[in-house]
Amino acid sequence: MPNTRNIVKDFRVETAVGARKCHASSLHTIKAGEKHFAYNDPGRINICIKCAPVILKVAESHVAKVRQELQ
Ligand SMILES: [Zn+2]
Repeated sequence: MPNTRNIVKDFRVETAVGARKCHASSLHTIKAGEKHFAYNDPGRINICIKCAPVILKVAESHVAKVRQELQ
């Protein structure tokens, strides 16, 4: 399936150029030079490295649920 769309292609890992706020927790700051998870919703969302695994786990669970409902 060479032409299958990747609907999560805006999911990416970035290195912060300047300090950023973590959108998952207002208590977290992403420092300049730190790697973090980013996506568009539709504005740019930055998630710190501590919160990213949980956010991705919720996304995985949602995809799994949708996949199951299609069967
Ligand atoms: Zn965070």
